[in-house]
Amino acid sequence: MQDSISFVPTMGALHAGHLELIRRARELSATVLVSIFVNPLQFESAEDFSKYPSDLAGDTAKALAAGATEIWAPTYDEVYPHQIVKVSAGPLGEIFEGRHRVGHFDGMLTIVSRLFDYVKPNYAIFGEKDFQQLSIIKKWVKENGLAIDIVAVPTVRDSDGLALSSRNIQLTPEGRRSALIISRALHGRSREEMHRILATEPNFEVDYAEIIDEETFELALPETKSPRGIIAGWINGVRLIDNMRMGSDL
Ligand code: AMP
Repeated sequence: MQDSISFVPTMGALHAGHLELIRRARELSATVLVSIFVNPLQFESAEDFSKYPSDLAGDTAKALAAGATEIWAPTYDEVYPHQIVKVSAGPLGEIFEGRHRVGHFDGMLTIVSRLFDYVKPNYAIFGEKDFQQLSIIKKWVKENGLAIDIVAVPTVRDSDGLALSSRNIQLTPEGRRSALIISRALHGRSREEMHRILATEPNFEVDYAEIIDEETFELALPETKSPRGIIAGWINGVRLIDNMRMGSDL
Protein backbone atom coordinates (compact mmCIF):
# COMPACT_ATOMS: atom_id res chain seq x y z
CA MET A 1 0.00 0.00 0.00
CA GLN A 2 2.78 2.45 0.89
CA ASP A 3 4.06 2.84 -2.63
CA SER A 4 0.81 2.93 -4.53
CA ILE A 5 -0.89 6.00 -5.98
CA SER A 6 -4.64 6.47 -5.90
CA PHE A 7 -5.98 8.99 -8.34
CA VAL A 8 -9.29 10.90 -8.15
CA PRO A 9 -10.00 12.92 -11.31
CA THR A 10 -12.56 15.70 -10.86
CA MET A 11 -13.80 18.87 -12.49
CA GLY A 12 -13.79 20.73 -9.18
CA ALA A 13 -16.77 22.30 -7.37
CA LEU A 14 -16.20 19.51 -4.88
CA HIS A 15 -19.07 18.17 -2.80
CA ALA A 16 -19.50 15.27 -0.38
CA GLY A 17 -19.63 12.79 -3.30
CA HIS A 18 -16.13 13.74 -4.43
CA LEU A 19 -14.92 13.66 -0.84
CA GLU A 20 -16.17 10.09 -0.48
CA LEU A 21 -14.02 9.16 -3.51
CA ILE A 22 -11.02 10.79 -1.82
CA ARG A 23 -11.65 8.94 1.45
CA ARG A 24 -11.89 5.65 -0.48
CA ALA A 25 -8.62 6.50 -2.25
CA ARG A 26 -6.94 7.10 1.09
CA GLU A 27 -7.95 3.61 2.24
CA LEU A 28 -6.07 2.22 -0.75
CA SER A 29 -2.90 4.34 -0.89
CA ALA A 30 -0.75 6.68 1.14
CA THR A 31 -0.53 8.96 -1.90
CA VAL A 32 -3.84 10.39 -3.04
CA LEU A 33 -3.70 12.69 -6.02
CA VAL A 34 -6.80 14.74 -6.84
CA SER A 35 -6.91 16.49 -10.19
CA ILE A 36 -9.14 19.46 -10.85
CA PHE A 37 -9.59 20.20 -14.51
CA VAL A 38 -12.71 21.34 -16.30
CA ASN A 39 -12.23 19.58 -19.59
CA PRO A 40 -13.61 21.64 -22.48
CA LEU A 41 -13.61 18.56 -24.75
CA GLN A 42 -16.46 16.96 -22.86
CA PHE A 43 -18.83 19.94 -23.05
CA GLU A 44 -21.00 20.26 -26.12
CA SER A 45 -21.75 23.95 -25.67
CA ALA A 46 -19.45 26.84 -24.78
CA GLU A 47 -22.25 28.17 -22.56
CA ASP A 48 -22.46 25.01 -20.47
CA PHE A 49 -18.65 25.04 -20.14
CA SER A 50 -18.55 28.70 -19.06
CA LYS A 51 -21.38 28.15 -16.54
CA TYR A 52 -19.52 25.30 -14.84
CA PRO A 53 -18.80 26.30 -11.21
CA SER A 54 -15.22 26.77 -10.03
CA ASP A 55 -13.61 27.40 -6.62
CA LEU A 56 -9.99 26.26 -6.54
CA ALA A 57 -9.15 27.54 -3.06
CA GLY A 58 -12.27 26.00 -1.50
CA ASP A 59 -11.78 22.75 -3.41
CA THR A 60 -8.16 22.45 -2.31
CA ALA A 61 -9.08 22.88 1.36
CA LYS A 62 -11.90 20.32 1.14
CA ALA A 63 -9.82 17.76 -0.74
CA LEU A 64 -6.90 18.02 1.71
CA ALA A 65 -9.27 17.68 4.68
CA ALA A 66 -10.73 14.50 3.14
CA GLY A 67 -7.29 12.93 2.77
CA ALA A 68 -5.83 14.11 -0.53
CA THR A 69 -2.04 14.40 -0.41
CA GLU A 70 -1.61 16.25 -3.71
CA ILE A 71 -3.89 18.57 -5.63
CA TRP A 72 -3.17 19.07 -9.30
CA ALA A 73 -5.03 21.76 -11.21
CA PRO A 74 -3.32 21.83 -14.59
CA THR A 75 -3.88 24.43 -17.28
CA TYR A 76 -5.26 23.51 -20.67
CA ASP A 77 -1.76 23.76 -22.23
CA GLU A 78 -0.27 21.47 -19.61
CA VAL A 79 -2.85 18.79 -20.33
CA TYR A 80 -2.88 19.22 -24.09
CA PRO A 81 0.60 20.53 -25.01
CA HIS A 82 0.50 19.10 -28.53
CA GLN A 83 -2.20 18.26 -30.96
CA ILE A 84 -4.92 16.34 -29.22
CA VAL A 85 -5.09 12.67 -30.10
CA LYS A 86 -8.72 11.82 -29.47
CA VAL A 87 -9.61 8.55 -27.85
CA SER A 88 -12.86 6.96 -28.98
CA ALA A 89 -15.29 5.59 -26.43
CA GLY A 90 -16.67 3.18 -29.06
CA PRO A 91 -20.31 2.10 -29.35
CA LEU A 92 -20.93 2.38 -25.59
CA GLY A 93 -20.11 6.07 -25.96
CA GLU A 94 -22.93 6.60 -28.44
CA ILE A 95 -25.98 5.43 -26.52
CA PHE A 96 -28.02 7.05 -23.70
CA GLU A 97 -25.74 9.87 -22.40
CA GLY A 98 -23.69 9.66 -25.58
CA ARG A 99 -26.73 10.06 -27.82
CA HIS A 100 -27.82 13.20 -25.99
CA ARG A 101 -24.30 14.62 -25.50
CA VAL A 102 -22.61 13.85 -28.79
CA GLY A 103 -18.82 13.59 -28.39
CA HIS A 104 -19.02 13.79 -24.60
CA PHE A 105 -17.56 10.35 -23.86
CA ASP A 106 -14.81 10.66 -26.47
CA GLY A 107 -13.83 13.95 -24.78
CA MET A 108 -14.03 12.35 -21.34
CA LEU A 109 -11.93 9.34 -22.34
CA THR A 110 -9.40 11.55 -24.10
CA ILE A 111 -8.77 13.53 -20.91
CA VAL A 112 -8.86 10.50 -18.62
CA SER A 113 -6.27 8.74 -20.78
CA ARG A 114 -4.07 11.89 -20.77
CA LEU A 115 -4.33 12.13 -16.99
CA PHE A 116 -3.58 8.41 -16.56
CA ASP A 117 -0.45 8.90 -18.72
CA TYR A 118 0.77 11.68 -16.45
CA VAL A 119 -0.19 10.22 -13.09
CA LYS A 120 0.39 6.50 -13.74
CA PRO A 121 -1.91 5.54 -10.87
CA ASN A 122 -2.33 2.09 -9.35
CA TYR A 123 -5.94 2.88 -8.50
CA ALA A 124 -8.33 5.35 -10.07
CA ILE A 125 -11.54 6.12 -8.22
CA PHE A 126 -14.82 6.99 -9.97
CA GLY A 127 -18.40 7.48 -8.82
CA GLU A 128 -21.33 5.28 -9.79
CA LYS A 129 -23.23 8.53 -10.21
CA ASP A 130 -21.80 8.59 -13.74
CA PHE A 131 -22.46 4.94 -14.37
CA GLN A 132 -21.99 4.92 -18.13
CA GLN A 133 -18.70 6.83 -17.75
CA LEU A 134 -17.52 4.29 -15.18
CA SER A 135 -18.40 1.39 -17.51
CA ILE A 136 -16.64 3.00 -20.49
CA ILE A 137 -13.47 3.60 -18.47
CA LYS A 138 -13.46 0.05 -17.04
CA LYS A 139 -13.89 -1.44 -20.51
CA TRP A 140 -11.19 0.77 -22.04
CA VAL A 141 -8.67 -0.01 -19.28
CA LYS A 142 -9.33 -3.72 -19.69
CA GLU A 143 -9.14 -3.66 -23.50
CA ASN A 144 -5.85 -1.76 -23.39
CA GLY A 145 -4.36 -4.01 -20.73
CA LEU A 146 -3.55 -1.10 -18.39
CA ALA A 147 -2.44 -2.02 -14.88
CA ILE A 148 -4.88 0.40 -13.24
CA ASP A 149 -7.51 -0.80 -10.83
CA ILE A 150 -10.75 1.09 -11.46
CA VAL A 151 -12.55 1.46 -8.14
CA ALA A 152 -16.26 2.39 -8.03
CA VAL A 153 -17.87 4.35 -5.19
CA PRO A 154 -21.67 4.29 -4.69
CA THR A 155 -23.58 7.50 -5.35
CA VAL A 156 -23.66 9.91 -2.43
CA ARG A 157 -27.09 11.51 -1.93
CA ASP A 158 -28.62 14.25 0.15
CA SER A 159 -30.90 12.95 2.91
CA ASP A 160 -33.92 13.55 0.66
CA GLY A 161 -32.48 11.30 -2.06
CA LEU A 162 -31.12 13.85 -4.53
CA ALA A 163 -27.80 12.64 -5.96
CA LEU A 164 -25.08 15.19 -5.19
CA SER A 165 -23.83 16.97 -8.29
CA SER A 166 -21.77 20.08 -8.93
CA ARG A 167 -24.68 21.23 -11.08
CA ASN A 168 -27.17 21.20 -8.18
CA ILE A 169 -26.06 24.69 -7.13
CA GLN A 170 -27.37 25.98 -10.45
CA LEU A 171 -30.90 24.92 -9.41
CA THR A 172 -33.37 27.36 -7.89
CA PRO A 173 -34.98 26.21 -4.61
CA GLU A 174 -38.07 25.25 -6.62
CA GLY A 175 -35.94 23.44 -9.20
CA ARG A 176 -34.23 21.51 -6.46
CA ARG A 177 -37.61 20.36 -5.15
CA SER A 178 -38.59 19.29 -8.66
CA ALA A 179 -35.31 17.35 -9.01
CA LEU A 180 -36.41 14.96 -6.25
CA ILE A 181 -38.64 13.29 -8.83
CA ILE A 182 -35.57 11.63 -10.36
CA SER A 183 -34.57 9.50 -7.38
CA ARG A 184 -38.24 8.86 -6.63
CA ALA A 185 -38.75 7.52 -10.14
CA LEU A 186 -35.67 5.30 -9.81
CA HIS A 187 -37.48 3.47 -7.04
CA GLY A 188 -40.17 2.48 -9.55
CA ARG A 189 -40.37 -1.22 -10.34
CA SER A 190 -40.74 -0.94 -14.11
CA ARG A 191 -39.95 1.39 -16.99
CA GLU A 192 -43.65 2.32 -17.17
CA GLU A 193 -43.78 3.15 -13.48
CA MET A 194 -40.63 5.27 -13.78
CA HIS A 195 -42.20 7.24 -16.61
CA ARG A 196 -45.50 7.58 -14.74
CA ILE A 197 -43.70 9.06 -11.74
CA LEU A 198 -41.60 11.42 -13.88
CA ALA A 199 -44.73 12.64 -15.68
CA THR A 200 -46.09 13.98 -12.38
CA GLU A 201 -43.35 16.66 -12.38
CA PRO A 202 -43.95 19.10 -15.26
CA ASN A 203 -40.66 20.91 -14.54
CA PHE A 204 -38.63 17.84 -15.47
CA GLU A 205 -37.98 17.37 -19.16
CA VAL A 206 -36.86 13.78 -19.77
CA ASP A 207 -33.93 12.94 -22.07
CA TYR A 208 -34.23 9.25 -21.29
CA ALA A 209 -35.50 7.01 -18.53
CA GLU A 210 -34.78 3.33 -19.06
CA ILE A 211 -33.96 0.13 -17.27
CA ILE A 212 -30.84 -1.51 -18.63
CA ASP A 213 -28.73 -4.57 -17.98
CA GLU A 214 -25.84 -2.91 -16.14
CA GLU A 215 -23.31 -5.31 -17.70
CA THR A 216 -24.26 -4.81 -21.35
CA PHE A 217 -26.32 -1.58 -21.41
CA GLU A 218 -28.98 -3.49 -23.41
CA LEU A 219 -32.56 -2.76 -22.35
CA ALA A 220 -33.38 -5.04 -19.42
CA LEU A 221 -35.53 -8.13 -19.88
CA PRO A 222 -37.52 -9.83 -17.12
CA GLU A 223 -34.68 -12.35 -16.68
CA THR A 224 -31.92 -9.72 -16.50
CA LYS A 225 -29.82 -10.41 -13.40
CA SER A 226 -28.52 -6.90 -12.77
CA PRO A 227 -31.04 -4.32 -13.95
CA ARG A 228 -30.27 -0.65 -13.39
CA GLY A 229 -32.55 2.34 -13.84
CA ILE A 230 -30.93 5.28 -15.64
CA ILE A 231 -32.49 8.74 -15.96
CA ALA A 232 -31.34 12.01 -17.48
CA GLY A 233 -33.17 15.24 -18.13
CA TRP A 234 -33.47 18.94 -17.62
CA ILE A 235 -34.84 21.28 -14.97
CA ASN A 236 -34.84 24.95 -16.00
CA GLY A 237 -31.77 24.59 -18.20
CA VAL A 238 -29.80 22.43 -15.75
CA ARG A 239 -29.08 18.88 -16.90
CA LEU A 240 -29.22 16.20 -14.22
CA ILE A 241 -28.49 12.46 -14.36
CA ASP A 242 -28.93 9.64 -11.90
CA ASN A 243 -29.08 5.86 -11.80
CA MET A 244 -29.85 3.11 -9.33
CA ARG A 245 -29.58 -0.64 -9.18
CA MET A 246 -33.16 -1.93 -9.35
CA GLY A 247 -34.42 -3.78 -6.35
CA SER A 248 -31.80 -2.09 -4.17
CA ASP A 249 -32.95 0.07 -1.32
CA LEU A 250 -30.40 2.82 -1.77
P1 AMP B 1 -17.06 15.44 -11.79
O1 AMP B 1 -16.28 16.43 -11.01
O2 AMP B 1 -18.53 15.71 -11.84
O3 AMP B 1 -16.45 15.14 -13.13
O4 AMP B 1 -16.97 14.10 -10.98
C1 AMP B 1 -15.73 13.57 -10.56
C2 AMP B 1 -15.97 12.21 -9.98
O5 AMP B 1 -16.86 12.30 -8.88
C3 AMP B 1 -16.60 11.24 -10.99
O6 AMP B 1 -16.01 9.97 -10.82
C4 AMP B 1 -18.04 11.23 -10.55
O7 AMP B 1 -18.72 10.04 -10.88
C5 AMP B 1 -17.89 11.36 -9.05
N1 AMP B 1 -19.14 11.85 -8.44
C6 AMP B 1 -19.85 12.95 -8.78
N2 AMP B 1 -20.96 13.04 -8.03
C7 AMP B 1 -20.95 11.98 -7.20
C8 AMP B 1 -21.83 11.50 -6.17
N3 AMP B 1 -22.96 12.15 -5.86
N4 AMP B 1 -21.50 10.36 -5.52
C9 AMP B 1 -20.36 9.69 -5.84
N5 AMP B 1 -19.49 10.08 -6.78
C10 AMP B 1 -19.78 11.22 -7.45
